[in-house]
Amino acid sequence: MKSLFKTTAIVSVSLVLFFACKEAPTLPFSALPTSATELFYLSHVDSLKNSISLGVPGKGSMKNGKIIPYSGVNFHYFSKASYLGGRAFVNHNLKELVLESYKDLYAQFPEQQFGIMECSKKEGGQISGHRTHRNGLSIDFMSPKMKENNPYYGLDNLGAAHYLLAFNNDGKLTVEPSIEIDFEMMGQHILALNKKAKQHHLRIKKVILKKELKDDLYKTKSGSIIKKKGIYITMNLPPRINEAHDDHYHIDFELTK
Ligand SMILES: [Zn+2]
Repeated sequence: MKSLFKTTAIVSVSLVLFFACKEAPTLPFSALPTSATELFYLSHVDSLKNSISLGVPGKGSMKNGKIIPYSGVNFHYFSKASYLGGRAFVNHNLKELVLESYKDLYAQFPEQQFGIMECSKKEGGQISGHRTHRNGLSIDFMSPKMKENNPYYGLDNLGAAHYLLAFNNDGKLTVEPSIEIDFEMMGQHILALNKKAKQHHLRIKKVILKKELKDDLYKTKSGSIIKKKGIYITMNLPPRINEAHDDHYHIDFELTK
């Protein structure tokens, strides 16, 4: 009887230990920062003070800029060097809007990935390669691409060289016309941003897209809604600026209060 009790006790203790060990809270490996970008994010992320955007995108600055995560379930920042160079900061309202728009897009298009390109520096001000992006309210978004009507991500990890990609006036990649801009998805992204902008005290001031690509966007279902809603897409741009806005579209936001 005594030995049966002992055996039962040992089995019970072992089972308790087994389950206790199994369910003991351990830090999952995924929670540990494993990359330079993740460490950079963690060392800059805060929600202590709201951002203050001063001036306008072309002449302004920012206080308490907030860093965009390097990646999420359906989006990624385009360049490690740019990210670590401190060029992925925005106003806190814009950060919330951008992240919410990706969540909404995930609910609608779970298979689709989006790319985010340069934003602003933490304190805003002049940022090389851009005339604007100075007050935390401008973002460059990577043009979504497709090949034979399927999403195509083969060029999304080029880093800064993505800015150099050239597309013809029908949105086809000059060097490989089977790769083209997915204007419907571009439009869906703009609509997602527009839909929640007001809730985040923002509005889309202007979208900069190469003027020859505007009709390609307007031809799509989402593009026709953009047109109907009167979301402003720039009409005339200096040639050099115009040419640059094919691999990406730039959006200037404005605070509503
Ligand atoms: Zn830009």
